[in-house]
Amino acid sequence: MLQQAFRFDPVELPQAAQALRKEVRAFLDENRDSLGNRRDYDQAFSKKMAEHGWVGMTWPKQYGGHERTAFERYVVIEEMLAAGAPVGFHWTADRQSGPNILRYGTDEQKAHFLPRIVRGELSFCIGMSEPDSGSDLAGTRTRAVKVDGGFRINGSKLWTSNAHRADYMILFCKMADAGQDEVDRHAGATQFLVDLKNSPGIEIRPVINLLGEHHFNQLFLTDLFVPDSRLFGDIGNGWRQVSSELAFERSGPDRFLVLFKLLTEMVRVAGTNPDRATAAALGRLVAQLATLRRMSLSIAGMLQEGLQPLNEAAVTKDLGTRYEQDLPVIARQLFPAEPDLAAVDTYVSMLARGIGNAPRLSIQGGTREILRGIIARGLGLR
Ligand SMILES: Cc1cc2nc3c(=O)[nH]c(=O)nc-3n(C[C@H](O)[C@H](O)[C@H](O)COP(=O)(O)OP(=O)(O)OC[C@H]3O[C@@H](n4cnc5c(N)ncnc54)[C@H](O)[C@@H]3O)c2cc1C
Repeated sequence: MLQQAFRFDPVELPQAAQALRKEVRAFLDENRDSLGNRRDYDQAFSKKMAEHGWVGMTWPKQYGGHERTAFERYVVIEEMLAAGAPVGFHWTADRQSGPNILRYGTDEQKAHFLPRIVRGELSFCIGMSEPDSGSDLAGTRTRAVKVDGGFRINGSKLWTSNAHRADYMILFCKMADAGQDEVDRHAGATQFLVDLKNSPGIEIRPVINLLGEHHFNQLFLTDLFVPDSRLFGDIGNGWRQVSSELAFERSGPDRFLVLFKLLTEMVRVAGTNPDRATAAALGRLVAQLATLRRMSLSIAGMLQEGLQPLNEAAVTKDLGTRYEQDLPVIARQLFPAEPDLAAVDTYVSMLARGIGNAPRLSIQGGTREILRGIIARGLGLR
């Protein structure tokens, strides 16, 4: 049963991808001043990447893409994340909004949005979660009503990362006339491409995270008008569209490289002659990372084949999260220090960042319990 439910075929990176790695490292060397410890939002940096053809890498040339393989894209994002490059501006659009527009958008939407994303001109955010409706997206209370020339939308979205900076949001809601269908809880689910910069009826309020930073928001939508041309996909098809988006969201190396810098700092602090217990603990962490990477690469292989590896993505995200939540705990045991975000010592500041980041990892992009439910279903247990 396991073999049928989960497919993690071993994958070797093709030569073209290996060659690209050198190019990416040279680029990162040249842009060393821009590198930090997290996925900062920096449009100028995204534009530089775009000039190298590293945004929308796998998309068709017809829409400005570069028709590179999923493996080449993998190498670029892996190197960017490991270096702490500020890729936040194009991240969501490149990872999931663009691929979903390619799959479900109209010809006009593809021609309008994709080339702009590829050039580093447009950023996207994800409008799925709401107060009282995160895991249970089917319980969404935001409602759209058909009106002349478009739709009128009312409701609220919560935890919307980067909504205060993004140009567009893909909004998930339901048609008001769908009612509360208890048999088909996904009835009426519909998505819209919402222009966040030019739409009256949107109020964006900051929600400050554990680290004291403004990363996510609550949005209030009051009689928001979205024209017919920005209906995304088919009315009532929102659930299927969201599911396909989440496969892109869950499988990448961003699910285990968020705290990579903390690991390299631990290795640095351990020095060249660590005691046996320290060496063993670090060795175990590196081995786990290598395994996660092989799993994630294997998923890149399936994406390359045009498959939708939902089960494999859930396993990889769950294990990746576990690994990253263990990192700061093990760091503290091996090299005790008072965590301080502002510390000059990179280990100490990364430790603080790791501790502050850890709780969110098993919530965003699907909580641990939800992922395990998907895995159980994949195994035929539910
Ligand atoms: C850093 C961060 C960034 C985020 N960015 C975005 C974003 O950009 N856009 C967006 O739309 N959302 C975003 N989210 C929201 C995120 O997707 C939700 O928080 C998540 O899906 C959980 O939903 P919830 O917060 O409503 O919790 P709930 O769904 O209420 O879950 C609460 C607890 O109950 C458990 N639970 C819920 N249902 C079940 C079940 N059926 N079986 C077993 N246990 C269950 C959950 O696992 C969890 O432990 C972000 C979250 C974080 C932390």
